[in-house]
Amino acid sequence: MSEDKRKNDIAEGQDDGATKESRRDFLKKLGVAAAATTVAPAATAKAASIAEHLQTHFEMMSDSQKEKAIARLEKRYSEQFEKQVTVANTPAPDGVLFGYALNISKCIGCRRCVEACVRENNQSRGEEDTRHLPIQWIRVLEMTRGNDTFQLENWHKGSPSSSPIGDYGVQSGGHADKAVGISGHAEHYYYPEQVPEENSFYFPVQCQQCEDPACVRACPVRATFRDPNGIVVIDYNWCIGCRMCQLACPYWARRFNWGEPILPNEDMNPKTHYLGNRPRMRGVMEKCTFCLQRVRDGRYPACVEACPVGARKFGNLLDPESEIRKILANKKVFRFKEDFNTEPKFFYYMD
Ligand code: SF4
Ligand code: SF4
Repeated sequence: MSEDKRKNDIAEGQDDGATKESRRDFLKKLGVAAAATTVAPAATAKAASIAEHLQTHFEMMSDSQKEKAIARLEKRYSEQFEKQVTVANTPAPDGVLFGYALNISKCIGCRRCVEACVRENNQSRGEEDTRHLPIQWIRVLEMTRGNDTFQLENWHKGSPSSSPIGDYGVQSGGHADKAVGISGHAEHYYYPEQVPEENSFYFPVQCQQCEDPACVRACPVRATFRDPNGIVVIDYNWCIGCRMCQLACPYWARRFNWGEPILPNEDMNPKTHYLGNRPRMRGVMEKCTFCLQRVRDGRYPACVEACPVGARKFGNLLDPESEIRKILANKKVFRFKEDFNTEPKFFYYMD
């Protein structure tokens, strides 16, 4: 089915928040109902109401349908978390393309960005040693100082399997189906008493908000899409939990809710956005959205505010006077796994 025809079919089927064709019929037509049932997706989550079950894709909803969906969610979340929860639908501002720059010569690996992100975005606190692990959108990798993984002259030589520094860890440069590029060891689970550790540098990774996102191309139901400001978002109610996006993303940026997220009432951030940090359900995918609920209101993402050394910069790529444009013009800048041609709007730089 062509994209336009699919959109028309769905739009025609809209009727006060529901489609004439039920969501399950729709899934059956796509041949993915079995997979969806196995992973208990959003549509079958216990807490979801029938109206929510049948509601259409956020992109297709009329204003009144959005209002009703949001009112339903605010009521449900407020009851569930025993506090007044708001679900914003702030539109994308005009004339803005959001971009991010991270100074790897400054990052000290303290992971305050990770903690701030978890708090702001209502990620599952999880339970260690169980299947319901905590969900974190940002990963900070510790790497050995002096390894030549990120030196430009090495970008297109060597191969992961013949590299003198090993065939595991992070690959920079190169291409998935060509033995080109160089890999170096990176440690995700480091717990030093003090950071930065001697002889280490740190490489945070999160969704790179690709301009040509592999995840969007892979999603069979368009649950994930690029918003007008260039942020890749997920309609959690439309996600069928097939995990194709996770498979497609070259940056390990997506997290799947295997279990019901664990979010204590007192930890829940009640200021949410429909496409951002509202509570997720079991069986759906999530990831960084540059704190969409903040940046659409003209604020910085939580990780930018939390970084104690100012390694994180954020701004409008379309504004030639913005800090991020000055960084791109004047610093040594690279993009991670550039050869995948996903065109990230997340830039790394060095002083
Ligand atoms: S980094 Fe991964 S999840 Fe993020 S936009 Fe790119 S492909 Fe999608
Ligand atoms: S967002 Fe990911 S998990 Fe959800 S339906 Fe799309 S590809 Fe599948």
